[in-house]
Amino acid sequence: MKIAVIGIGLIGGSLAKELKKQYPQATFLGIDHNAAHLETAIAQETVDTVATLSDIDKADRVILSIPVKASVALLPQLLDRISENCLVWDVGSTKKSICEAVASHPKREQFLAAHPIAGTENSGPQAAHLGLFDGKPQILCEAKKTRADLLDWAKKSFRQMGMYLRFMEPKEHDKHMAYVSHLSHISSFMLGKTVLEREDDEQNIFDLAGSGFESTVRLAKSSPEMWLSIFEDNKAPILDILTAYIDNLENFRKQLEEGAYNDLYNQLKNTNQLKTILNGIKPN
Ligand code: NAP
Repeated sequence: MKIAVIGIGLIGGSLAKELKKQYPQATFLGIDHNAAHLETAIAQETVDTVATLSDIDKADRVILSIPVKASVALLPQLLDRISENCLVWDVGSTKKSICEAVASHPKREQFLAAHPIAGTENSGPQAAHLGLFDGKPQILCEAKKTRADLLDWAKKSFRQMGMYLRFMEPKEHDKHMAYVSHLSHISSFMLGKTVLEREDDEQNIFDLAGSGFESTVRLAKSSPEMWLSIFEDNKAPILDILTAYIDNLENFRKQLEEGAYNDLYNQLKNTNQLKTILNGIKPN
């Protein structure tokens, strides 16, 4: 079996490592526009050989793991090139535009729209590692549009990585990701920006970060290329939740200014329910 990985960074590289464990006899082809990343991936034995898009017709499986806007542009051309039993799946953080891009493609049934809810703020092949997906959800969108034998193979493989599966429609997926993930990244980036603009002593940032700053701005260390692509692609749901968030911030500011401490307390107390939610819901 030949498995091609387009975008040999954190997610593509980690998937390649997992699949190497599952299929030790398979050959892994690395495709990436970053020559240094390809070199690292070869040196780390994440992939066996460097390839280009012209080699895609030889692949049995193709993982598409580049920023979402680039995936939307490339995916139809990939489907044009693949052989009849090849499965292509993408791992992009938004799903509506990718599913729309191939909706009427003659090889639509050879594509699976997936989103592993796993990752870190680190990027590139050096960040890839085994175990990244263990215990994490894999969201599959429009799974019924994928050919049954190819879908079964992918489901089995994801479960072997320790993932549990959830099924969602692309529009729903993008809306919920805007709420739970994309807003967190925006607020982390903007919190970091505000502090960098106001606190001109970097030593103070370093010394005082343990008070909560470090954990709250962890996401602000994420790749700007990847996140701009997500914000652009999921603009409407993000604008909607951003308005609600700004309303809450303005309300907080007003209540603090007016000394409405009981109201502030109640909001903080109500929000503590996150403790139960985040500890309590177990995978199916
Ligand atoms: P990453 O670590 O930056 O890896 C992406 C790799 O693809 C890099 O080597 C990058 O090179 C290369 N690349 C970018 N555009 C390309 C193009 N047009 N053609 C060929 N190579 C290209 O990113 P990642 O975190 O693995 O993210 C990959 C995908 O996974 C994204 O769609 C993202 O939305 C999704 N995802 C990410 C996470 C997460 O937490 N990171 C979680 C779930 C899903 P350069 O760095 O030189 O551009």
